Amino acid sequence: MDSASIISKLVELNALSSALDIPESERTSMLQTMSYYANHFINELPYIKGYNNAQEKGLEIKSQTRSLDQLLNLYQKEVAETGINAASGKHLGYIPGGGVFTAALADFLAAVTNPYAGVYYASPGAARIENEVVNWLKSVFSFPDSAVGSLNSGGSISNLIAFTAARDKHQVKNENIRKSVVYLSEQVHHSTQKALRIIGLEDAIIRYIPIDQHHRIIADTLDNLIETDINDGLIPFLVIASAGTTDTGAIDPLDDIASITHKHNLWFHVDAAYGGFFIMTSAKSRFKGIEKADSLIVDPHKGLFLPYGVGAVLIKDSQSVLYSNYYTANYMQDGVNEEMLKSPANLSPELTKHFRGLRVWLPLQIHGIAPFIACLEEKLLLTRYFRLQLSESGFSLGPEPDLSVSYFWYPFDSDANRKNRQLMEEIHQDGSVFLSSSIIDDRFVIRIAILAFRTKKETIDEAVAMIKRCLGKVLSVNE
Ligand SMILES: *Cc1c(COP(=O)(O)O)cnc(C)c1O
Repeated sequence: MDSASIISKLVELNALSSALDIPESERTSMLQTMSYYANHFINELPYIKGYNNAQEKGLEIKSQTRSLDQLLNLYQKEVAETGINAASGKHLGYIPGGGVFTAALADFLAAVTNPYAGVYYASPGAARIENEVVNWLKSVFSFPDSAVGSLNSGGSISNLIAFTAARDKHQVKNENIRKSVVYLSEQVHHSTQKALRIIGLEDAIIRYIPIDQHHRIIADTLDNLIETDINDGLIPFLVIASAGTTDTGAIDPLDDIASITHKHNLWFHVDAAYGGFFIMTSAKSRFKGIEKADSLIVDPHKGLFLPYGVGAVLIKDSQSVLYSNYYTANYMQDGVNEEMLKSPANLSPELTKHFRGLRVWLPLQIHGIAPFIACLEEKLLLTRYFRLQLSESGFSLGPEPDLSVSYFWYPFDSDANRKNRQLMEEIHQDGSVFLSSSIIDDRFVIRIAILAFRTKKETIDEAVAMIKRCLGKVLSVNE
């Protein structure tokens, strides 16, 4: 090809390829369309159900193009109106959050400007914002300045990064895996066992620490378990506690566990994915000892009500984190002169990453922290309010929760598990608000997790009315 033919081919290609860089007039009109959609979606939230038991269709990628308008219609019907409405305050199952609007603006800004947040020299400002959010989290949990951390997709990957650091700090390698012991309770989130398996610790010994009637680890038993294992020639190295379990919202006795792990020189990890941000509320004293953890995870997409896709890990021993994650390559040589700890890529498995810091940083700056704390405080009170309402209606309740997750069941005279399962099915069928279920001490129970920032007293009243309505149905079919 000579220059002339290259140039003419380029002209031809440009006619098509420049479609990706849309002109201002179209950008403005698309932004208006999107802004109208977002406002309409949010305005309608109070009037639509929390759960829609429907399947999706028509979402395959087609060869003919479609307009933004057409696609938004499709999106509304097949995505927004199927399954759990997670933006709604009526999401009271699993662990909700909601998705504050200003975080969506931050995501938009991050996507339009697209800075490279993984490496300091590539975008000092973006890397700084990532690190600033980590620093802020360190202050929330009274971790020292020397601790490191990263913003990840969520709690699962954050757990994985922490366990990997613990593994490497304690030199758990092929030859000693089968003798290495991890301690946790049956109430840990399943991402814990999953992460241990992914990082090659499937064959390590996992000890389940007994829990009390509040579903909290019994610290004395932990101490005994560790002593026995050491005497038996095993190698205890990691204790995993929860600050807010997923099923019951329980906080383990962190301070006691910290003393035990300190005494035996074990790595102390706290999973605060759901509960962590409640440390900023009147529940603060329950978190005593969390500052003594070697690592901790917390999910801003839960307790800070941000859209899905941001969790955080904090780790005190920066060397072990670097050991697992710091690698370099020839094509990275322009980046390695910068201080290693300033580049998020050295502290997590990700290199190129979504600029997640911005969706935490921007809302915190726009709103200040006070509305977030008030929102958390409100959820604690709503949980008490809900429990009072239900117990007045003859339901049985799980123990007084530490935070905003609780469970209940109806004490049917016979066949209670089957009938409570029916009650759950009726509730899903109804869908006014969304609740989920669990099995606790062999009992089928219905959980309520109050964390969505849009959940208010009216939502709880609606939930109670729905539960009573559904109970009426179960009672009548079983007569
Ligand atoms: C949600 C949760 C996780 C997992 O976090 P993801 O963000 O869903 O990956 C881990 N631990 C606890 C206690 C959780 O509530």
